[in-house]
Amino acid sequence: MAKLTVKDIDIKGKRVLMRADFNVPLDESGEISDDTRIRAALPTVNYIIDSGAKLILTSHLGRPKGKVVESLRVDVIGRRLEELLGKKVRKLNDCIGEEVEGAVRIAEESDVLLLENLRFHPEEEKNDPEFAEKISKLADIFVNDAFGTCHRAHASTDGIAKFLPAVAGFLVQKELEHFQRVLENPERPFAAILGGAKISGKIEVIENLLDKVNALLIGGGMAYTFLKAKGLDVGDSLVEEDKLELAASLQKKADDVGVSFVLPLDHVIADEFSASAKTENTAGSEIPSGWRGMDIGQAAVKKFIEILKDAKTVLWNGPLGVCEFAPFLAGTRAIGEYLAESSATTIVGGGDTAAAVNKFGLAPRFSHVSTGGGASLEFLEGKELPGIAALKDK
Ligand code: AMP
Repeated sequence: MAKLTVKDIDIKGKRVLMRADFNVPLDESGEISDDTRIRAALPTVNYIIDSGAKLILTSHLGRPKGKVVESLRVDVIGRRLEELLGKKVRKLNDCIGEEVEGAVRIAEESDVLLLENLRFHPEEEKNDPEFAEKISKLADIFVNDAFGTCHRAHASTDGIAKFLPAVAGFLVQKELEHFQRVLENPERPFAAILGGAKISGKIEVIENLLDKVNALLIGGGMAYTFLKAKGLDVGDSLVEEDKLELAASLQKKADDVGVSFVLPLDHVIADEFSASAKTENTAGSEIPSGWRGMDIGQAAVKKFIEILKDAKTVLWNGPLGVCEFAPFLAGTRAIGEYLAESSATTIVGGGDTAAAVNKFGLAPRFSHVSTGGGASLEFLEGKELPGIAALKDK
């Protein structure tokens, strides 16, 4: 269902509270090590400023667990925003209360205020209605542009929408459009690539996708449970013994509905889980004992690319190997490089896969790289995200 966006309502002269996802990584000295999330919010921020509204920005940062944690104050975000906007950003010392209300009262059109870390208050994550009402008093309109937190029903993503007209920002709108198109009306053939550590975190994604895709390519740690379920030797690879039956039934379901279910033909194996392990590329899909699968092998990469050549839509969630360690990132990089050149619609779910394509410098050449890890996963599971459900339908 399409949602109203900030463009669909009149915001001139209004007080607009925008929930952003400024939860950026900080280095040891407390400086921002990657400002992608701040930049991702800029189109909506600039639109609101240019429309002559008073902009009140709010976000969480890190996990302060309901207490004030000095190192998680959002001043550092305010400073980066000032640089990016070329404009004063008034950082406040709380997100509710008289002082904040006073600052909003005296703010002028196109002024930018930044509220303190929402999660200094335990009520935020509890979706406390009184807390939501207190934040809502600061504004006339609520704009949610924090896609990365839309899978959480918190006061600033869900509760607040009961007190204010709630619309989507441009980032949320873009994420919704891409995921809805790929799940509801993909250009075919449609291939999904799933990787990552375990099946257990992705069962619902696999089940949901089996009804939608033409091909499902499996790599990463989860491949070994599927291979073992087929009776193959996987050595000391990561296997979820309690998921073997489920793995077999998912493969059977794929066969029943005519989805090509593709497992790695070979692997890069290691004699221990470490970046300095001894490594080899296997000759086939089995792995001897004493060795573990750490990446898809060269034949697997070739096979995956052969299938991806025909695809008009490709969805990718989860690295294909332990790409934190240099010897095991070749599979993820090769598939990333192939997709970056492909003319298909290419969508990357957030989290580790987004981090990998960013690291390889490939992100701009994908159709869409999601900014939400957990949020994109829940979308792919076919769930309605609370932060999206709370927004007004178009
Ligand atoms: P997820 O959060 O489920 O997407 O998993 C991401 C993690 O999967 C990354 O930290 C990878 O190191 C890990 N991973 C990928 N391939 C393997 C593998 N073959 N064995 C163990 N872990 C893996």
